[in-house]
Amino acid sequence: MNKIVLICPERNDVSKWVESFKKENNNIEVEIYPNDTDREQTEFVATWNPPADAFEKFPNLKVIASMAAGVKHITSKKIPNNVKVTRVKDDYLNYDLSYFVLNALLNYLRDMPLYFQHQEEKIWDRQAYQRPEDVTVGILGFGNIGQAIGKLLLKNDFKVLGWSRSKKDVEGIETFKEDELNTFLSKSNVLVCMLPHTPETEDILNQELFQELPKGTYLINVGRGAHLQEEDFLEALANGQLSGAALDVFKTEPLPKEHVFWNHDKITITPHTASITNPATIVPKMVENFQRMQNNEPLKDEVDLEKGY
Ligand code: NDP
Repeated sequence: MNKIVLICPERNDVSKWVESFKKENNNIEVEIYPNDTDREQTEFVATWNPPADAFEKFPNLKVIASMAAGVKHITSKKIPNNVKVTRVKDDYLNYDLSYFVLNALLNYLRDMPLYFQHQEEKIWDRQAYQRPEDVTVGILGFGNIGQAIGKLLLKNDFKVLGWSRSKKDVEGIETFKEDELNTFLSKSNVLVCMLPHTPETEDILNQELFQELPKGTYLINVGRGAHLQEEDFLEALANGQLSGAALDVFKTEPLPKEHVFWNHDKITITPHTASITNPATIVPKMVENFQRMQNNEPLKDEVDLEKGY
């Protein structure tokens, strides 16, 4: 059963994935769902946003590998008993995401969205600006990517705080655990959401949370659109509790053309592009897990299905 099936119906072109698998191990057969030949012979699938019933079609399935860091696209589907789920942990992705957040922060500190508008209207109007050392950035979700972001921001002179379920120890960064959320929020002038989407984190960016932040906090959401309670968010922008936001992820993607966020002058929108998965660095790890599965060894980067991430 030297075969991996790719299940990613939304991606028209998976050639880079197939090439990367070939390059990494030419003996592994790679098939594309639904054109796979013998489903009984499949123990390992790699997937992004699979159809709801896809996994049931593989009676001998052992491992589902997410082609991304997030796994809600898998955990929201029926996972057959005893099937393990893995996710992406990738320094290449961490790097891209960290620079995306740094860029969003610098744009905010230097009022770049305002200058882009001014250029269109030929307005010459210098603004006062904030400096990194004057800003405390709180990172909600201080895991693999959150910590990479924190370290880059620290190197760029920001003060950094991290919040996670369990306490973390990262030099130069003040960290908070689950029950210390309000203290963490009260110290953050910029809030970066880098949480996974689970039942506990859905709509976590809501009015109750916003009111614990200093007035005028800026929000950067690179976690998931499901984290943002949209009515509460618009109200917080209107009453000044939030001064603005950079949003990369949305409840519905692509963001519908009629959505109020598009024309809001305090919101900067990017199309879920904080980091784009890189098959060349991810596939070697998938192949390693495929071989671990074949040798009955523990998998790397396995998802805790109880926690949902
Ligand atoms: P990790 O699992 O490494 O980190 C998740 C962090 O969130 C952990 O620190 C965890 O705490 C914390 N956490 C989870 N649930 C809670 C909770 N209920 N209360 C407090 N803390 C909680 O994930 P990654 O850093 O790799 O990825 C995070 C998410 O980023 C992904 O799930 C995905 O949704 C999103 N993402 C977005 C991308 C984009 O392009 N915009 C790209 C890649 C990922 P603890 O450590 O204690 O368990």
